[in-house]
Amino acid sequence: MRVLTCLAFEHHLPSVLLAGLVCVISCLLSMRLLRRSEESDSVVQVAWLVVTATCLSAGIWSTHFIAMLGYRPSATVSLQVDETALSALIIMCGALIGCYVATLKFTFAKALAGAVIGVSVTGMHYAGMMAYNLDAIVAWDMRYVIASVVFAVFFGALAFEASEKFDKGLHRLIPGGLLAIGVVSLHFTGMGAMTVVSLGVSEGLDPVTFQILALTTAVTTLVVVGAGGAGYAVEASLRERTDRRLRHLALHDIVTDLPNRACFTALVEQAIENRKGKNIAVLVIDLNRFKEINDVWGHQAGDAVLCDIADRLRGHERPGGYAARLGGDEFGIVFPVEGETELVEELKLIESLFMTPVRHADFEIVTNASLGVAVYPEDGRDCETLMRNADLAMYKAKTDPLNRIQHYEHALGEAVRQRRELAQDLRTALETGELRMFYQPQIDLKSGEVCGYEALVRWPHPVRGMISPAEFVPLAEANGLIGRLGDWVLETTCEEVAQWPGAPKVAINLSAIQLNDPHLVGKVLQAMVSTGLSPSQLEIELTETALIHDLGQSLNVLRRIKALGVSMALDDFGTGYSALETLRRFPFDKIKLDKGFTDGLSDGGRSRAVISAVVTLAHNLDIPVLAEGVETADQLDLLNMMGCEQAQGYLIGRPAPSVNGQPPAALDVMWRPAEQAATQASGHAG
Ligand code: C2E
Ligand code: CA
Ligand code: CA
Repeated sequence: MRVLTCLAFEHHLPSVLLAGLVCVISCLLSMRLLRRSEESDSVVQVAWLVVTATCLSAGIWSTHFIAMLGYRPSATVSLQVDETALSALIIMCGALIGCYVATLKFTFAKALAGAVIGVSVTGMHYAGMMAYNLDAIVAWDMRYVIASVVFAVFFGALAFEASEKFDKGLHRLIPGGLLAIGVVSLHFTGMGAMTVVSLGVSEGLDPVTFQILALTTAVTTLVVVGAGGAGYAVEASLRERTDRRLRHLALHDIVTDLPNRACFTALVEQAIENRKGKNIAVLVIDLNRFKEINDVWGHQAGDAVLCDIADRLRGHERPGGYAARLGGDEFGIVFPVEGETELVEELKLIESLFMTPVRHADFEIVTNASLGVAVYPEDGRDCETLMRNADLAMYKAKTDPLNRIQHYEHALGEAVRQRRELAQDLRTALETGELRMFYQPQIDLKSGEVCGYEALVRWPHPVRGMISPAEFVPLAEANGLIGRLGDWVLETTCEEVAQWPGAPKVAINLSAIQLNDPHLVGKVLQAMVSTGLSPSQLEIELTETALIHDLGQSLNVLRRIKALGVSMALDDFGTGYSALETLRRFPFDKIKLDKGFTDGLSDGGRSRAVISAVVTLAHNLDIPVLAEGVETADQLDLLNMMGCEQAQGYLIGRPAPSVNGQPPAALDVMWRPAEQAATQASGHAG
């Protein structure tokens, strides 16, 4: 009651309101600034602490000062400068200490900090009262004094404790509000503690001066507090923007701006959660031959391909569906799906997005992809299983060029596990030198003499026995081991063949991927120089498919190898595109006719017609033809008759290792000169 009458009758109301306004604004803002300093560390934290303490002390001191100026006791008043300064100093120090304590990490640090502020506000208030010289007898009611101290400490502690808990939305106003209540209640309870009996002697300051002083103080304080607030606002918005950017970067891929793997996992989980009775399809998609695109056209082209595909995927997104880049040339897609037909149709559409050629600079890059699909719930009930199974299906798709879309099947897991194990074994085999070179003789059909050998790599696996290169060479290609395998084949073959008497010729198979090795030409030269093998003894076998990937680049490499004096053979002719263009543009020294044609000889017509055509064509281009896979004397006679220059096959000799520095022997072939063979062959044919 005493407090209310004091407020109503002994105060200038506008000044009281002004004081209240300054108090509320500065308390609200200070508590926000305090949170800000708690969130930062080191120098930034110290800076924010100073700003907080400045705003807080300026605000509280002005509240007190303006309210004092609004006090209209029934006595003349004057102000003492020293004590006024002291009161400001007390709250400055108190605010600094309090704010610092608030950042400490022990239990009740916040409450203690608030209590420190409460105590210093009290100290400030009563020091301020000392500065207030009244020409009167002043009586103090100690109950009010004690109550004022309790209010200040209690609300101070409460406000600081609340600062951590109420940190969202409008709740953020609560701590500042509590603090303001503490400051205001302290002040007016403290004022109510005084009873003034005027002596009416000396002259004090007049009320107008008081009002001007009050206004000036309020404005100055609000400017100080406003500056702090502006700093806070600018920094908060900058932080928010940076946060948003960082969050985006953490969840998106830089090149394509699609969600990344981490984000995709979350999207799959979300899709499962929101499925509403539908199935969820998870796709893992791998671009085929992306490495080649990078190697051949450069990384810019590679990035252009990725971005183009990303744009198409974005444009194609269905409701509830998302596309992501999982890394490298791997994409992920998740979408809800009703039934099998819908899924199949959607998969075809998605595949077509990857098949459309990408235009980059002046050329078109042809791409395609392998898709692995796993569907919730049958192929997995959580994101991890679904993605792993889709991945397994994708690996399967990669090994099957005819089925680029593969659905997960249980057996896939086992097959892929075995392949991975075998790839690991191959890595070890390359390190421990488990591989061997075998050589298969080739004969000249005019003379019946051995005219060369083909080097074929062998892997005697310690557990599985002999593994065919038809199995492990593609495995090496898929697992990035073909480079080392190829280097080993080149070095070992040159080393072994260089020991053989009579300087025979040897043909080495190169994988398409080896053509991308920028050091290939140097390696071929180095292998010959270090072993003493003459270039005329070395032949390189390449399949047409190895070349067709990038004609320009391959042609360049081949020309440089040929310039060393090494010859070139086109392997497996008749199985690939068999484009005349290839033969015209590449400087081949030999065409190896695929075993399939030799096999087909006995069936009559078509095979013979093709062989004849090829032989005629080759002769026109002045390139000799070697027939592969000759197993019977009849085949040999027929080939001889049709004009093939050379032959290779089990009839002549199986691939075998070099023993004691000698090449494996050719069998005694039932060879006869062409004219004789012709009569013989026509006999067979008839
Ligand atoms: P290719 O280059 O077409 O090699 C000929 C394959 O036919 C060899 O199989 C050989 O053993 C087999 N062969 C030869 N004559 C006959 C015959 O009369 N009848 C039958 N049924 N088969 C015959 P191999 O050694 O299993 O090699 C398979 C494929 O692996 C090769 O096909 C070649 O593409 C690849 N390869 C082998 N060695 C290497 C190598 O050192 N490097 C690379 N990059 N690839 C290799
Ligand atoms: Ca070959
Ligand atoms: Ca071949």
